[in-house]
Amino acid sequence: MQTSRSAATRHFSGTYVEARAKFLENAARSGATVESFVHPQHRGALGEEIACDVALIGASDAKKILLVTSGTHGPEGFCGSAAQIATLNDADLLGRLAQAGVALLLVHAVNPHGFSHLHRTNEDNIDLNRNHVDFNAPLPVNAAYTELEPLVLPATWPPTAADEAALAAYIGLHGMPAFRAAVTKGQYTSPGGLFFGGAAPSWSNRTIRAILRKYAASATHLGWIDVHTGLGSYGHGEKIYAGRNTPQDLALACEWWGADVFATVCQ
Ligand SMILES: [Zn+2]
Repeated sequence: MQTSRSAATRHFSGTYVEARAKFLENAARSGATVESFVHPQHRGALGEEIACDVALIGASDAKKILLVTSGTHGPEGFCGSAAQIATLNDADLLGRLAQAGVALLLVHAVNPHGFSHLHRTNEDNIDLNRNHVDFNAPLPVNAAYTELEPLVLPATWPPTAADEAALAAYIGLHGMPAFRAAVTKGQYTSPGGLFFGGAAPSWSNRTIRAILRKYAASATHLGWIDVHTGLGSYGHGEKIYAGRNTPQDLALACEWWGADVFATVCQ
């Protein structure tokens, strides 16, 4: 369905508080089953309660589920929240989902702390995209990051001329792609560093798993859109596929989402 710019704008919010209230209001109006997973320890930037809010439209035992999650990287939630609220207002889409027997499961603010405080990471400086690993197995090692950390997080900010020269020398020696890969790959050794994956499953990780166990256990088909921002062309929804990199799974992803699926390591 085509939506005009002004019609779309009303779905956006200026704060997490506004986004959450708008989401809950629209979910209730749509007749969704709503459940809130309130953060047990932390509050938001305005002192408010923060939560992962779930809205289910359709049968609780549906075999096919379309899951849309927002706010994995805190402030990227402003876009994801608006997309979820727009979906709740899209009678045409909701009608087609019902007809196809697909339940719609919306999870608002996977990382509500980051959403409210405008941090990509969560309350423990964890980048949630790097937190879904097996913590019972040896954790991925990122030796290049250890070497780089003093250069990307120098002792004083802004960086001194010497810091900048050292960083430029590293990039000159190893190349920009290697530098980027070393920083963004994720690391499990420096809790205060960049792209930290954590030392255990985070609250958001455990909450998302609890939500899936409760709402998606009987599903045989689960399509999951996790809305992020900051990559791709302006105003264009780039479909980044982050599943298994096998020919069969890639073919299935293209069948479901269209030929313009972009497969890469998740950013
Ligand atoms: Zn993101």
